[in-house]
Amino acid sequence: MAVLNPAAAAALKAKMQPARLTRLALPGPEHLGVFRVRLADGAVPLYQAGQYITLGMDTPAGFVARAYSIASCPLELDAYQLYIVRVDGGALTPHLFTAAPDTPCFVMPPKGHFTLAKAQVRTVVMVATGTGLAPFLGQIRTLYRLHEVGVPAGYRVVLMHGCAHADEFGFRDELRSYGRARSDDFDFTYLATASRPDEGHGWTEEHGSGRVNEVFRSLFDLPTDARRPVTLPNDVDKVKLRNLIRAEPAALMVCGNPGMIDHLREPARQLGMTGFMVEEYWKA
Ligand SMILES: Cc1cc2nc3c(=O)[nH]c(=O)nc-3n(C[C@H](O)[C@H](O)[C@H](O)COP(=O)(O)OP(=O)(O)OC[C@H]3O[C@@H](n4cnc5c(N)ncnc54)[C@H](O)[C@@H]3O)c2cc1C
Repeated sequence: MAVLNPAAAAALKAKMQPARLTRLALPGPEHLGVFRVRLADGAVPLYQAGQYITLGMDTPAGFVARAYSIASCPLELDAYQLYIVRVDGGALTPHLFTAAPDTPCFVMPPKGHFTLAKAQVRTVVMVATGTGLAPFLGQIRTLYRLHEVGVPAGYRVVLMHGCAHADEFGFRDELRSYGRARSDDFDFTYLATASRPDEGHGWTEEHGSGRVNEVFRSLFDLPTDARRPVTLPNDVDKVKLRNLIRAEPAALMVCGNPGMIDHLREPARQLGMTGFMVEEYWKA
């Protein structure tokens, strides 16, 4: 359902909250955007990190509404932050990327079950491709904020982020800084890998090389595709990281490319992971 007919659009808008959308001016590839959505009538409602909102906007073809994971932390009450890739030819995203600052839009309140609470264990491996990072970013930002104010949530989190090129690792500096802040009560490891490890795009040996699902397999010494060589970042001690993940029951949370998600089902089962949670952005 690309564009809603006028009656359906009016009915949906009536249930939505008016808001304003602005693309933040941040460095990075032009097809990746960070957006701020500010509600017209005040603070964002209570929600859990990992949930999503439905964002609707009038386009020249009509009203279009799509789901977007919330990348900001629920403790930030003034606006939602979204991390979106422009899908060329898509009904909504090309318009988001050319919208003027403070463009009127509409949002449905947050919903969804892709939350840490639903994982039911305290060790979680998060695997994302591209903007599949968004729900994890919201969760990690929340864990860091709780740690900062002295109420650690007690999770061990390993985030693996895969992109084609290294310059597409959104929020890399922020996530690296969380990785450096690792301590007994903020147990976070960040691992970014590029399937096209091209130094011209900023790849260095601080990143892994290979698809993120293959890097995951390699971490656990599961067979990988011989045609696609895989390396881990040079500061990752594979055995130590593997043992860390295996020390307690662990769940796998995955978001992004449907092929990546499918490839991880079997390894998750083989490794006896207690949960396999999926946020599916689109179908294969
Ligand atoms: C719960 C949920 C949360 C989501 N959160 C995010 C998010 O945080 N960030 C984000 O960028 N997207 C997210 N999406 C995807 C988003 O809802 C839209 O599908 C996407 O932005 C494309 O919208 P469009 O109208 O431009 O393209 P459409 O006209 O709807 O789609 C064109 C085609 O593009 C493909 N497509 C859809 N999404 C992607 C993608 N991310 N990468 C490559 N191809 C794609 C599909 O095959 C689709 O059929 C989420 C989806 C769901 C269900």
